[in-house]
Amino acid sequence: MLDVEVQELDTGVRLVGSVTSGLQPEIFLADTIENGAGYVSYLAEPAHFDQLVRALEELVDSWADSDRHSCGTSCYRCLRDPGNSPYHPLLDWRLAADTLDVVRYGTPRVDRWAQTRRLAVEAAMRAFSWECDDPGADEPILTTHRRPLRVVHPLADHLNDPGGAVDGDVFNLNLRPGAVYLTV
Ligand SMILES: [Zn+2]
Repeated sequence: MLDVEVQELDTGVRLVGSVTSGLQPEIFLADTIENGAGYVSYLAEPAHFDQLVRALEELVDSWADSDRHSCGTSCYRCLRDPGNSPYHPLLDWRLAADTLDVVRYGTPRVDRWAQTRRLAVEAAMRAFSWECDDPGADEPILTTHRRPLRVVHPLADHLNDPGGAVDGDVFNLNLRPGAVYLTV
C-alpha cells in the first residue's frame, strides 16, 4: 500500500490499563523516524485502515494456498525478514493468521493446523512410544507414559485443565516436543 521498506514502520504490543477490565493488550503501529514520516497517519484513516486489514487478510489467506506458498512454519516469503532474525525459530504463519482472526472475529475462521497437528501427533507417537486413537481429531488425546495429553490450539484458553488430561498446544508439540514431553 505504501511502497516503503519494512524498517520504515515499527510495531509491537503494549498493555493499557482500564478501570473496568484491568490491563488490556493493544497492538500499535508507528513510524520509525522521530516525529513521524506520515505513513501511520495515512494508515490510520478509517478507509485506509480497512484497506490495510483487507489486504492483510488476503495475504494470510495466500499463505494457506499450498500452490503459492508451502513452508512448515516461516520463510522469507511470509514472516521472516532480516530485522526479525532473532525470532525466526518462533515464527509460524498459522499463528500469525490465527491471531489476526482472533483480533478481528474472536476466533480463527478456519482450522489451519489440521495437517501440522496430525504429523506432530504421529511424530510424538513414534518418538515417545505414546498412543493415540485418532491423530486426525480436532483435539487428539495421547496416552503417554504418565498423564494423558490433549493437543489443543496454541491460542486456546483452557490450558492445564485440572480434569486429568494435561493440555499441550500443537505449536509446541510441533517445534518443541521435548518440552511438551516434560509437562505430562
Ligand atoms: Zn513461509
